[in-house]
Amino acid sequence: MKLKLHWQIFIALLLGIIFAFLSRMMGFDNFVIEKISILGDIFLRGLRMIIVPLIVSSIISGVTGIGSAENFGRMSLKTFGYYITTSLLAILTGLILVNLIQPGIGAQLGLEKIPEGIEANVEKLGDTLLSIIPTNPLAAMVNGQILPTIFFSLLFGFFITRTPQPYKKQLTDLFQGVFEVMMRLTHFIILFTPVGVFALIAKIVAQTGIDVFIPLANYMLTVIGALSIHAFLTLPLLLYFIAGINPVAHIKAMSAALLTAFSTSSSSATLPLTIDCVENNAGASNKVSSFVLPLGATINMDGTALYECVAVVFIAQVAGYELSLVKQFIVVLTALLASIGAAGIPMAGLVMMTIILQAVGLPLHLVALILPVDRILDMMRTSVNVWSDSCGSVIIAKSEGEKGLKILIE
Ligand code: ASP
Repeated sequence: MKLKLHWQIFIALLLGIIFAFLSRMMGFDNFVIEKISILGDIFLRGLRMIIVPLIVSSIISGVTGIGSAENFGRMSLKTFGYYITTSLLAILTGLILVNLIQPGIGAQLGLEKIPEGIEANVEKLGDTLLSIIPTNPLAAMVNGQILPTIFFSLLFGFFITRTPQPYKKQLTDLFQGVFEVMMRLTHFIILFTPVGVFALIAKIVAQTGIDVFIPLANYMLTVIGALSIHAFLTLPLLLYFIAGINPVAHIKAMSAALLTAFSTSSSSATLPLTIDCVENNAGASNKVSSFVLPLGATINMDGTALYECVAVVFIAQVAGYELSLVKQFIVVLTALLASIGAAGIPMAGLVMMTIILQAVGLPLHLVALILPVDRILDMMRTSVNVWSDSCGSVIIAKSEGEKGLKILIE
């Protein structure tokens, strides 16, 4: 009997951890990092290879499938409404928990030793928002700039629906066809997920010592606690009460994608699996998933938004910097914008955090405080990001009256 994909991935994850611990104990972890990580790189390259054509074909076929301008407007409103609401809920959860637990007060983190000059990466928020409009859409695709690629694909798909026949049908069929091919290619690459996950996890565990966790344990617990509340309470309640969806059935349906998000720390790289799980396991239509998911993987990042908020308040606590109510409000707003602007790649959230630090007047080099555990927390927040996208897609599918969902409450 063939083992289901999510079990294969789960076993690979455990084996990766065990393998890394054994290799650390026996002192050949450099060997592990070099040799095994090649397998992880091959897998990641495979996923990256399909991201741009998958996003373009999926969005264009999704938008043409939605049909009229009225339907498009309604779907966009629901999608963005869901993204903003859940991101804000996530941020508020983080804000409440970090103020209650106060992990930064009295933490001994050697603040004096932090070198200055890590701030090279500050991006201006205005520039990030403006760059959504590509000056050259093909260049954006070639360079893998996802947000501008999505923007152009949305417009292109929309105007196909406004184009007269026979071109409308020809183009709709063409992009539907390309999307079908891309989904088959995706299935092929997904076959390698267990091997890739094994290698990626082994590498991370072999590289990260446990000792870096100790001074930051309270901070990590705050982030993990808030992420758990959002993922296991808030989102399931929305699933249950708004859409009549069984959260346990949905998490099972999504498990292969969630485990991949955990191992790759990248919503974009996980997108092919997310689409596959939402359509084939949860039973949402391609029309909804191909519109909601590529957008979500790029701009809906609940985990990242929550993380940014907790991290900035933590840094302020460590530095003994008072965050007034107004400043906390600025943190909430900029955390939302930073999570929208963050790319779906590993540690993108850390780079965007500089925007928030700047907005509330904290020295940027203080991000170094949380650097040692960022990668590990990135795995968790990325899983929450993907989980929220998937919840959004099935809630919207249900609200559109879809009959094929396999995860409804009995
Ligand atoms: N790694 C996250 C993602 O791809 C982004 C982040 O760094 O928070 O979803």
